[in-house]
Amino acid sequence: MIIADQKKKLHSLLKTHFGYDSFRPNQFEVIEDVLSNKDVLTIMPTGGGKSLCYQLPALAMKGTAIVISPLIALMKDQVDVLRANGIAAAYYNSSQPQEVQQETFQKLKNGELKLLYVAPESINHFDMVFQEIDISLFAVDEAHCISSWGHDFRPAYTQLGSLKDRFPTIPIMALTATADRTTQDDIVEQLSITDAQRHLASFNRPNLHLEVRPGQNRLKQIFDFLGERPHESGIIYCLSRKSTENIAEKLRNSGYDAQAYHAGMDTQSRTSVQEDFINDRTPIICATIAFGMGIDKSNVRWVMHYNMPKNLEGYYQEIGRSGRDGLAAHTLLFYSYADVVQLRKFIADSANATVQYAKLERMQQYAEALSCRRIVLLNYFGEHLTEACGNCDICKAPPSYFDATVLAQKICSAIARMKEQEPMGMVIDVLRGAQNAQVFDKGHQHIKTYGAVNDVSWQDLQQYLIQLLNQGVLEINFRENSRLALTPLAKEILYQKKTVQLAILQKEGKKTEKKVRSKISKTDLFEKLRILRLQLAKEEGVPAYVVFGDASLKDMEDKMPTTRSEFAQISGVGEAKLEKYTEIFLKEITDHIEAVKPKTPTHEQTYTLFKDGLSVAEICEKREFTENTIYSHLLKIHTQGEALDLYQFISKEEVASIKEAHKKLADVEGLKPYFEHFKEQMPYWKIKMGLYLLDLGS
Ligand code: ADP
Ligand code: ZN
Repeated sequence: MIIADQKKKLHSLLKTHFGYDSFRPNQFEVIEDVLSNKDVLTIMPTGGGKSLCYQLPALAMKGTAIVISPLIALMKDQVDVLRANGIAAAYYNSSQPQEVQQETFQKLKNGELKLLYVAPESINHFDMVFQEIDISLFAVDEAHCISSWGHDFRPAYTQLGSLKDRFPTIPIMALTATADRTTQDDIVEQLSITDAQRHLASFNRPNLHLEVRPGQNRLKQIFDFLGERPHESGIIYCLSRKSTENIAEKLRNSGYDAQAYHAGMDTQSRTSVQEDFINDRTPIICATIAFGMGIDKSNVRWVMHYNMPKNLEGYYQEIGRSGRDGLAAHTLLFYSYADVVQLRKFIADSANATVQYAKLERMQQYAEALSCRRIVLLNYFGEHLTEACGNCDICKAPPSYFDATVLAQKICSAIARMKEQEPMGMVIDVLRGAQNAQVFDKGHQHIKTYGAVNDVSWQDLQQYLIQLLNQGVLEINFRENSRLALTPLAKEILYQKKTVQLAILQKEGKKTEKKVRSKISKTDLFEKLRILRLQLAKEEGVPAYVVFGDASLKDMEDKMPTTRSEFAQISGVGEAKLEKYTEIFLKEITDHIEAVKPKTPTHEQTYTLFKDGLSVAEICEKREFTENTIYSHLLKIHTQGEALDLYQFISKEEVASIKEAHKKLADVEGLKPYFEHFKEQMPYWKIKMGLYLLDLGS
């Protein structure tokens, strides 16, 4: 009973303050634990909805929730969002003017804040105040920063280790998107909350479409991709600073709004690029992986990887920045063998090379997968999907196979004849019969399989070789000039008639998703709402998603609310936004409905009013037309065969007198002579109607 009551109360807070109807996976369970005063460790993928896990308890509990967050930009955004939802929140960091800091202190002391965001560096400023006030909970966001095992250790976080000691009765929440077990254990240890309830949400993000394409003609592929998504926001991740700049420039030259972002730029330019992206002023960012940490933008619709990332953790975090609002997002990875070679070179110089090689290999397996990619991906994070996802390129267009035994024999034979000493590029050249200096210098033009596969393009042949690598037929000896070598399996193919199946190569730019996407770009209500949102955001000086996320706009587009109570049902519309935005959004929506409604011809509109019982004079006033026009509408109605009695407008006598006039004026043209004939006493419409009736012979 108590639980049911609490559940109801939390749902109602969720709806009133955030405008959401239901919890995302794990949110409710986490919140329940905090409300029963337990410490928790919450692991959720990026976009899973971590913030709500502490924001909602903060509202449900007495006192102020203290949120420790490492990124100043993120703090500000979150506070903006909370305030837009009518929640008393503030943030504190060292870059603020002193008056602002003082004001925050004062509010805190007065118990006026439900949430306070603090940078870990500043937490010691609050040592005194925290003793004096009511604290509901501590939330440590990006909690992996406390662990030197995590990928982003921050010394300032270690101060948080004493919180539990000082405030033993206040629940501590640690939240992060970093999954591995060692880091998890370290977090709870560092925070002295080893008994914390652990909540591990699924890492599956079913709304992200996963696609991998061969990295050939990447620029052309990018242009095609963008051409289908004219207004969408996205990120192109590149390996080098130089290529972020190159690609951004090429995009700008072709009329796209794109900016580069990398760690070599000064802080000010970086901040401004980031702000422009968040505020929807620059839709496309070409960035190194330095970009994205702390970007809480919910409507990133796509993420591209121009180069292959070095491990699946990084990759998943990067694509995870798209589709945080739960709407469909597209991720595209370009995979080229050259990237693998380059990444291996980087790794060779680093300390824990063995681990990194292993991670790179998993990344490669993902890129080369011939079965559902999501299964491969989630496997890596320890989750085992039992069914293919239906939302990756492989699921959408499963590869077909061909008997490649002869092809494989030719390839293996060439490698054997070159004594397994040559790297992939040379093997391909030789098989295709290339006439270049490298081949001739080594005398490879004389071996028997020279030119044996000259009917397959260089790139296709490379893809086949990669498939053979994946099937364990070939291997690369990275330490020795990356030479290709044969495995025992290759020997079976060569000497024991073992057969080989290879996937038929897909041509780039499959058409399957085109339909899905054009649906989004064509819906002009969404576009109108987007523009309205942008305009409101500008007026209020906040990022667009603070006004409404894409998910809310999408919901408006689907439901087309026209009343306040319908608007209240839209996802993301809580009380504060209902007050603020109902009128302006309803107007946009009703205008849209009006604009797309099939237009009723003007004379029919008149007739509708007439049938509703309005007099001609009243119709004239309402429609702002003259009497002549209204009668001509009614006449037209009659010509269309409507049973409208015209003799209610004109008498038999009047028709008779028009008949008389007609005898005299038979040869004249137009109505003016009649008008003069009747000494301007009979209106034009009546003359016209009379002549019409005469014509009908009535
Ligand atoms: P994380 O911090 O885990 O990356 P956020 O807390 O920023 O994710 O949430 C991602 C998005 O999901 C935000 O736009 C947020 O408003 C939205 N969201 C969170 N919880 C819900 C919910 N229960 N229903 C609908 N949207 C939600
Ligand atoms: Zn799949």
